[in-house]
Order: sequence, then structure tokens, then C-alpha cells
Amino acid sequence: MENPLTPEVLADPVALTRALVDIESVSLNEKVIADCVEEVLRKVPHLTTHRFGNTVMARTDLGRDSRVVLAGHLDTVPLNNNFPATMRGDLMYGCGTSDMKSGVAYALHLAVTLPEPRYDVTYFFYEAEEIEQRYNGLFLVAEAHPEWLTADFAVLLEPTYGVVEAGCQGTMRAVVTLTGVRAHSARSWHGVNAIHRAGELLRRLEEYQSRRVTIDGCDYREGLNAVRINGGVAGNVVPDLCEIEVNFRFAPDRTPAEAEAHLRELLSGYDLRITDCAAGARPGLGAAVAKEFLDAVGEAPIGKLGWTDVARFAAMGIPALNFGPGDPNFAHHPDEHVELSKIRDGAATLHRWLAQP
Ligand SMILES: [Zn+2]
Repeated sequence: MENPLTPEVLADPVALTRALVDIESVSLNEKVIADCVEEVLRKVPHLTTHRFGNTVMARTDLGRDSRVVLAGHLDTVPLNNNFPATMRGDLMYGCGTSDMKSGVAYALHLAVTLPEPRYDVTYFFYEAEEIEQRYNGLFLVAEAHPEWLTADFAVLLEPTYGVVEAGCQGTMRAVVTLTGVRAHSARSWHGVNAIHRAGELLRRLEEYQSRRVTIDGCDYREGLNAVRINGGVAGNVVPDLCEIEVNFRFAPDRTPAEAEAHLRELLSGYDLRITDCAAGARPGLGAAVAKEFLDAVGEAPIGKLGWTDVARFAAMGIPALNFGPGDPNFAHHPDEHVELSKIRDGAATLHRWLAQP
């Protein structure tokens, strides 16, 4: 295959977005797109390029005081009659237009066209963000080559509709086990109904007043919800077991240990088992590089409510935020699209930030 990422395409973030969308790259099928990206980057004299699996990293080494990361995942969710890209007026439709080949296009465009950025820049084009963490390119690089991720600040080019979404909330899942005594329902007084015991627990969850907190000017709103319930043996049996899965989305001023303590206090008296947890990330907007980025954007940041890969950087002490042209409401949607003007505006913003003052 001829590499569709020609110099003319690389010079225009809109054309580049379309060319990237038209290279199919559903998770675990990123080889072709990674080959195309790697081939382009290896020819750029001001970059050093490495590859790990289907993750490509390229960096400048200009001896600048600060280093920033621009990162985007190469994979998409499965196609849904939305491949290849189509254009309608100011909109480009197709799988990955919003999440997040328009963001990847920023990184690739800047990597090729900006030989002397004001900071050293590490560009990441990584595999398998949309599936389990064990495949995630950033996760794999953090395990194998943690030094590749060294930086003072990171921008993940995930869809935010041109707004800065800083930090992210943490997420914790727990299972509450309610037990009883099994009996024939015709003589139910011999048993203890485990499903009935759920009532009091569900009421606690329903009455829970979720907290709002402002960190670095960003609002985070927590949430605690029962997300699954299992119980019951048969139509004539008093059940002896009921399990309720709870999901706690917590603001990044709580550590996972503090979130767990809060959950255990709230659900005291119940048998609670934590099944899954990912720490949040503070917005970290105090760093000088982050301030310069916000000046270039010129709009106040908001708190990111979902969990994203910014948390990986935060865990390494690197402040990170999300900034991309796609509309997150249309990510993973059959009508996924991106506005061409948003692509151009965001590219201009990043250029303003990274070009020499
Ligand atoms: Zn994404």
C-alpha cells in the first residue's frame, strides 16, 4: 500500500484527519496505521523515533528546559456502517473522526511541521486505548520503557469539543454481599430473605448526597450508584444470597484508599469487597507549562468526569489534561463526526502554544 500520509496531507490537519480515518484501525488492528505513522516520522530529521508493538513515539531533543507530551490513541471502537469518512458541509463523519483521529492529526501535523518547538516535545501514537488496560499502548510503554514518558506536562488529544478538560475523576467498583437463610417460600418464617436486606442498603445509596468540589478552578461532581443486582434461587425459594455492585466516581482530591474508606464508612455493617479501582488525577494547572497552554487556549478549563489516560501521567507526577476537537457526545456513536472548523481552531491553538514566541 502507498502511504496515504503524503507531505500535502500532513500539512493540513483536516486532510490528515480524513486520511487517518480512512486507515481502518479497530483495536488490535493498528499495525497498518502504526506502519504509516512510523514511516512518516522516521523521515523527519528533527525527531528521534521508536516503536513498541503498535505504539510509535517520536521526540525532539533540543535541550529545552521543559518537555511536553502530546498523545493520541490510534485505535477506534468497531466500525458501525461509518467507514470510510464522508463529508457533509462543515462536518466529517466516520469512525474515529471525533475519538480521536482528529486529535492524532494534531500531534502528527505538529511533529512534522514544527522543527523548533519552544519546549521539547514527545509525541505518542499508541495502540489499544478502547479495550482492556493490558493492551493499552501507554500502559505497556510505562511498564517496558517508563523513561519514554518523562515530561513536565502532557496533553491527551481526546475529544473535548475544543475545551480544556483537566484531571479526571477516579472510579471504584465494589460488591456488597447480603446473606440470609434459604427456605421454602411456603414456610418462609424458617428463612431469612437476603433480597429483602437490599432495601435498607439501596435506601442509603438513594439518599446519599454526592459531593461537589472545586480544584484549581475545575468542578468535580462525585456519584455513587448501584449498577447491578443479582439474587434469587427459584420461584418458591426464599433466597439466601443477594449481591449488589456499586460504582463510586470520586473527585481527584481523594486517593483510592480515602475513597475506599469513605465507601466503607457509608456502607458500614455490610460485607463489602472492592473489585476494581482506578485513581483520579488532579488537574495540575499550577505548572508553568500548563499555564502557558491555558493562555494559548484562552478559555477556562473544566473538570473531566470520566476516567482517561491522563491518570497514567498523573500517577507518574506529570500534570495532564484533555484537549481535542471532537465532540465527546458523539464518540463511539454511529453518527460520529467532527467539525472542520474545530479541527482548524484547535490546530491553530496548539501551534500558537508550541511555536517559538
Ligand atoms: Zn478516545
